[in-house]
Amino acid sequence: MLSIVSTPIGNLGDITLRAIATLTKCDGVICEDTRVTGNLLKQLNLGKKELISFHGNSDEGKTAFIFRKLKDGAHLALVTDAGTPGISDPGFAIVSRAAAEGIPTEVIPGPAAFLAALSGSGLPINRFMYLGFLPLKKGRRALIESFREDTDGEFSRTIVFYESVHRIERTLTEIAEALKDQPARPVVIARELTKVHEEFVRTTIGGLKEEAARIVKKGEFVVMIGRPATLKPL
Ligand code: SAM
Repeated sequence: MLSIVSTPIGNLGDITLRAIATLTKCDGVICEDTRVTGNLLKQLNLGKKELISFHGNSDEGKTAFIFRKLKDGAHLALVTDAGTPGISDPGFAIVSRAAAEGIPTEVIPGPAAFLAALSGSGLPINRFMYLGFLPLKKGRRALIESFREDTDGEFSRTIVFYESVHRIERTLTEIAEALKDQPARPVVIARELTKVHEEFVRTTIGGLKEEAARIVKKGEFVVMIGRPATLKPL
């Protein structure tokens, strides 16, 4: 059995009762950084567990090792460093292979940064488009340009994506430039969600360059772009 377990994105209090129960009873935990997950288990007083590291570039040998255990009847939990496994995190390869090989799976849902950001944004979120991290080179410019026309039929959708501290200023500046003919369009930047310095910076495309320079360059970021004024929310 493979349990896919979401863990907090910064605030230990967001761990769920089911996550604790599953991490307590499983035989081992597939994780990204064994130090991060070891620390989580320690903070939750869950004692020692076998931690099996798995990341984007883990080789076939590691995957085969994990699936041998699962086929031998082990109950493994899949977690990532923070949030929901598979959401801009490794895990997809494990879950898709489990599905293909008929390994029973269950999900233990919990925090994901983009959902927390959207729900606190004040933007219309019945429809949204999650883009993960924007590409660094190939396709980046075209994707950002496409935000100008982004629609879902006659309705609008909010765009949401992740950004790192190293690129936040550059990305916001590029968006301000690409969408400058839509100056009233709202932009919300969520920083350090669920942590001590959580903040929502609310601005518009017109004010974005200034905000890009001013925003505190620390921590983790989610960027959201609201609808063009010409479109109605659903
Ligand atoms: N699996 C995670 C999830 O469910 O949200 C996402 C992991 S991804 C590797 C890390 C990115 O998520 C960060 O660079 C940041 O953009 C976003 N993120 C994670 N935690 C965050 C937080 N507490 N506040 C704001 N953004 C966060």
